[in-house]
Amino acid sequence: MSHDDLSSLPVAVLGAGPVGLAAAAHLLERGLAPLILEAGSGIGANLATCRHVRLFSPWRYNMDQAALRLLKAHGWEGPELDALPTAGELLDGYLAPLAALPAIADRLRLAHRVTAISRAGIDKVRTRGRDAAPFLVRAATPEGVREFLAQAVIDATGTWATPNPLGANGLPALGEDGLAAHIATGMPDVLGTERQRYLGKRVLVAGAGHSAAGTLLALAELMESCPDMRLVWATRGGNLARVFGGGEADGLPARGQLGLRLQQLRDSGRLEMRENFLIQSLRRHAGGIDVHGHDAVIEGVDEIVCATGARPDLSLTRELRVRHDPWLESTDALAPLIDPNEHSCGSVRPHGHRELAHPEAGYYAVGAKSYGRAPNFLLATGYEQVRSVAAALAGDLAQADDVQLVLPETGVCNTRRVVQQAAPSCCTVKAADATCC
Ligand SMILES: Cc1cc2nc3c(=O)[nH]c(=O)nc-3n(C[C@H](O)[C@H](O)[C@H](O)COP(=O)(O)OP(=O)(O)OC[C@H]3O[C@@H](n4cnc5c(N)ncnc54)[C@H](O)[C@@H]3O)c2cc1C
Repeated sequence: MSHDDLSSLPVAVLGAGPVGLAAAAHLLERGLAPLILEAGSGIGANLATCRHVRLFSPWRYNMDQAALRLLKAHGWEGPELDALPTAGELLDGYLAPLAALPAIADRLRLAHRVTAISRAGIDKVRTRGRDAAPFLVRAATPEGVREFLAQAVIDATGTWATPNPLGANGLPALGEDGLAAHIATGMPDVLGTERQRYLGKRVLVAGAGHSAAGTLLALAELMESCPDMRLVWATRGGNLARVFGGGEADGLPARGQLGLRLQQLRDSGRLEMRENFLIQSLRRHAGGIDVHGHDAVIEGVDEIVCATGARPDLSLTRELRVRHDPWLESTDALAPLIDPNEHSCGSVRPHGHRELAHPEAGYYAVGAKSYGRAPNFLLATGYEQVRSVAAALAGDLAQADDVQLVLPETGVCNTRRVVQQAAPSCCTVKAADATCC
């Protein structure tokens, strides 16, 4: 295919979550045509699973600038920038109006689950003519399997659909699959739609991130109306500094408060705390589920909330030449910038198309997916990623390379070091001179 023919094709954007829709807005600004393929029956299908969850970053960090320009051009009035939206409010108040704009709606295909990406007529092994061949994106749709050609692919499919299992070794614990009916992932709405499921039960929450924290606090609230309820918190490690967070020093006060409230709950003794608990197997008997660790057992659990994070679905790119970090499963060059052993959300260095590139020219994973298994992704980071990628696809390398990021810092910079005071902020830094933490 000639260069002109290739550039007449759309840029496939996989996933209509916040980052995918932002990518579409940036592409439109650059005169490139997006084709947005979304697996869900509505946009933001992953966010829609936790509409009740209040985000810890305020509106100002949760909206993309190109998307805002598009919305404002259509007379949209934005929210109060310092307020904290729930996931549902982000969907209804920002993403839905964005997706409804004709320029986006005309190019959005719902219920199109992408199952594979390749190059038209060229398998992974063949090099000759590779870069000139269009991408071929295969999707499962209500009308059957369909294929789309694209000049480039921006993969913003997130990680929520592939949660990590309970097993400490990264594999499902023995017996986990058979007990799936008693295991919820992510952040179930324990004070709303899922109330009856948890009321009066002995509930185990596994994980040490913000999702675990939010669920524990909600369950503790539910426990107030039902003193028979019992709550167990199992963590793989013994250092909870990261989830307790920066407290008063956190650049995102809501996140700091979440950590402080969790610490108070732990200290109140209303919670059975099981640190350094490495889940190996689950066995059910008349008295409930016994959760076996390496050298201990949590007995008689009724329900389990597995909040152990998520991982990317790498099967989509099996036929592409991709290079991932061996353990984070992030884009390879990104790994040292986001390594959760070293970085919190706010200390991630600005990065753009170069760090997001793969050997397969024209394919970029962005958003939460680009971070692989690293849990420290923030929307603001994803918006800068897609600004840079869209500029690169439009051939504007000067803008693509000028990556800048304004992130809220946290008082806890990494998992090894607990900083007593707010760390010097690394906000508004350029890639070349950023040295955080
Ligand atoms: C509970 C929780 C709270 C969070 N709070 C904050 C916060 O306060 N601030 C912040 O900055 N970040 C927060 N994050 C992190 C992050 O910003 C969100 O996870 C965000 O939703 C990531 O956006 P995304 O567009 O990359 O992916 P997603 O929102 O996961 O969107 C991916 C989209 O792709 C679609 N999709 C998936 N697979 C396919 C496929 N095969 N084909 C087509 N479409 C597909 C999905 O249906 C979905 O619509 C939070 C995360 C969680 C889990």
